[in-house]
Amino acid sequence: MTTATPIDTRAERQIAGVFRGPGFHWVGDGFRVSNYFPSGNNFGHRISPFFLFDYHAPYSHAPTDQPDRGVGSHPHRGFETVTLAWEGSVAHHDSTGNSGVIGPGDVQWMTAASGILHKEYHEAEYARRGGPMHMAQIWVNLPKAHKMAAPGYQGIVDADIPRVALAGDSGYVRVIAGEYAGVKGAARTFTKLSMLDIQLKANGRAEFAFPAHENAGLMVLNGHVTINGHTVAKTHDFVLFENAGEQIVVEASEDSHLLMLNGEPINEPVVQYGPFVMNTEQEIRQAILDFNAGKFGHMED
Ligand code: MN
Repeated sequence: MTTATPIDTRAERQIAGVFRGPGFHWVGDGFRVSNYFPSGNNFGHRISPFFLFDYHAPYSHAPTDQPDRGVGSHPHRGFETVTLAWEGSVAHHDSTGNSGVIGPGDVQWMTAASGILHKEYHEAEYARRGGPMHMAQIWVNLPKAHKMAAPGYQGIVDADIPRVALAGDSGYVRVIAGEYAGVKGAARTFTKLSMLDIQLKANGRAEFAFPAHENAGLMVLNGHVTINGHTVAKTHDFVLFENAGEQIVVEASEDSHLLMLNGEPINEPVVQYGPFVMNTEQEIRQAILDFNAGKFGHMED
């Protein structure tokens, strides 16, 4: 006779798979990125509220005198663009009058919501000097209730991002958004999510626990790790977790740099057309009409 095993509410998080990004493409003439999702991999609602992940792996741009190498004026509506820089320097300005430069360690959290126009380009001094650029842009979807909120802008410098030291001299976690080990992140968000930038030393270990109904994914920016004692992920792998179990144990076999994305899914229909991410086709048509009517504001070149 056997007894039923009670359900372990802190069971290990199951892994849906380890995915690679597609070949790179150029965004404008300044950003050489691989689109991990949604075009490179169709994770759909399994990675919500994150909608898009463009990864600019380390790449050395040639020096230039061109003042705006990158992407010219374009609109966004219905979500937030989050740009993380690890190497190189990116400038931005938008139709609401916000502008900024993000360099190594900095994060730009831009809320397009009801609509902005903006430009994204290599910062002038970096462009003249040239050299390595390493960055990512993540689109964070907004729920229907906030898609038409006022645009916003959070320029978050490295010094504003709390660092949590990991036990056993394993490295540290930068809490960009959300919470880790009780430490709250730097960014304000509309829905519950966390974005954690992790440096693990060789033989270092980090633990995470997210409620099973929340989504989670781990990008290996550099290094070699083993997850929950069995699944290996290495440089440029993206690990998508299932909505089963909670605990994630990451052990590094060499110095590793990781980005953990986690959040409550937004359980609403998603319709994307280029730079617009809305709930319905009608809202997409309206976005195009509003853009053509000049309702996204004006840019000074
Ligand atoms: Mn943009």
